Amino acid sequence: MKHYVCTGTCGGTAETPGTCQASDCNRYDQPLKECECQDGLHAQILENDANHQEGSRSTE
Ligand SMILES: [Zn+2]
Ligand SMILES: [Zn+2]
Repeated sequence: MKHYVCTGTCGGTAETPGTCQASDCNRYDQPLKECECQDGLHAQILENDANHQEGSRSTE
């Protein structure tokens, strides 16, 4: 079933298109991404999102 996922820190999902409603999320008010996964892992979305981040290196 199609659903909509926030790729921010809240990890929220919704059954209808919209924007993130979690005011403490780093993607608050950003549009949710459409997903059709069956296992609830949203792998296709999280993968795409990871590609935008050029590695999360620790600066310690
Ligand atoms: Zn969110
Ligand atoms: Zn999903």
